[in-house]
Amino acid sequence: MTKEIVCDTKSKSIQSVFGESKYWINSILLKGLFMIPKMDLHIHTTFSDGRCTMQEVVKTAEERGLEYIAFTDHAFSNNIFTIDENTIEEYINEANRIKGKSSIKILTGLEAEIPTIDKVMKYREQLDLLLISNHGPVRGTFRNAITNLIKDHPIDIIAHPWYINDTDWDKIIDAALERDVAIELNSFRKVPEPHIIEHIAKRGVKFSIGSDAHSKREIGMVKWAYDILEKLGLGKESLIKLP
Ligand SMILES: [Zn+2]
Ligand SMILES: [Zn+2]
Repeated sequence: MTKEIVCDTKSKSIQSVFGESKYWINSILLKGLFMIPKMDLHIHTTFSDGRCTMQEVVKTAEERGLEYIAFTDHAFSNNIFTIDENTIEEYINEANRIKGKSSIKILTGLEAEIPTIDKVMKYREQLDLLLISNHGPVRGTFRNAITNLIKDHPIDIIAHPWYINDTDWDKIIDAALERDVAIELNSFRKVPEPHIIEHIAKRGVKFSIGSDAHSKREIGMVKWAYDILEKLGLGKESLIKLP
């Protein structure tokens, strides 16, 4: 299978790219947020369905002033172009190779899915971050699937938590608190909703911040998350502890 690689958004004029820069991390003034590092902990590369290579991601992140990034390609997905047993070692090796070559702190992560998470566990110790998400049906309810899974899997972040009823959140929060799992503020999908974010914050669950970038344009496009943190008066202590 060959994939068309379009990391650079060539179809857009430079002007329109700069016009969008207000959404990027480097436009954040960091007034009350000066203690929060500039992070984007959810980025896809050509190892799964992203358009940029790891090197292109790092170069763009440097240009946009990020301090922390994470490669979080899909792993063993049933629905999406994904890392599998044939590519996972190359992925981890390539991430490790790139790590030392940038001033940015780079984390090796994966975005696992609820039905196939066990296939990732063999590689867990080689990962800095493990995200869990879902892109298809799960057995029973998402709430039960995620709370059961968190109990016995070393998950760091629940990525783009979506399609969750307001009344289901407290059970998920209980499980996240018990296992010290962070909940992602996903700037691309704009989830969770702000009133849920406020509730999560009150209950003391930590947040992660991610753009869910699949192309160059989206890398570091996390202003939505920082704006909400600022509005809620949340600082560094409300964020996931980074290695
Ligand atoms: Zn996802
Ligand atoms: Zn993703």
